[in-house]
Amino acid sequence: MARHEFLVIGLGRFGGALAEDLVQHGHDVLGVDADGKLVQEYAPRLTHVVEADSTDREALEQLGARDFGTAVVAIGTDLEASILTTSVLVDLGARNIVAKAISEPHGRILDRIGAHRVVFPERDMGVRVARRLAGRDVIDYMELDPGFVLLETIAPPELVGKSLADAEVRRRFGLTVVSIKTPGEPATYATPETVPREGDIMVVAGETSAVERFVRLRER
Ligand code: ATP
Repeated sequence: MARHEFLVIGLGRFGGALAEDLVQHGHDVLGVDADGKLVQEYAPRLTHVVEADSTDREALEQLGARDFGTAVVAIGTDLEASILTTSVLVDLGARNIVAKAISEPHGRILDRIGAHRVVFPERDMGVRVARRLAGRDVIDYMELDPGFVLLETIAPPELVGKSLADAEVRRRFGLTVVSIKTPGEPATYATPETVPREGDIMVVAGETSAVERFVRLRER
């Protein structure tokens, strides 16, 4: 088998898009998937595509897995297949193993068994979309009604260390603080006596313009 630059295992939405983009940028890609239909679909679009079970050490050895510049494990939902595939690649001595994780614990396991790089595409994309929607420290943003939103954000420094009543959040911004959460602790309802701490996560509700004014507090 000829040597390819990239081995992409798992041609789901993430692996498929990644493999195709690499090809479009002039790289050689061998795509592997256990699903014959996906293999057929990608055959004309990648340098080479093979139907195989990547948890099978012999199959990966025969494909020359250790000779690729980079091997990407693009299996997420099937944790067992993701972990077994990664450990087979490590055993075979693959040089640069990039593995996709769908959660922090999953990522820690992949890291511990020897993946050289662990990526979290779903998480990264979620964060990016939220920030794009409404500003830098926005964690989540939901439009309840046109012009009325619920926003999850990091407490602005100006509100840290004083009660919500003293900070006059409602009068100054025209919005309601729904809850406050210190990372690692359970969320609580916000009351006038609540004192946000640095790094706390606040959920606020109000008119879009009021919420946007509130977000801009952090950017001053
Ligand atoms: P997506 O990128 O679509 O979000 P996902 O995170 O849901 O994918 P999975 O559905 O677990 O990930 O797997 C992605 C792809 O990997 C699927 O096309 C699946 O057929 C393939 N796959 C899963 N297990 C194996 C395996 N043992 N050998 C080869 N391919 C596999």
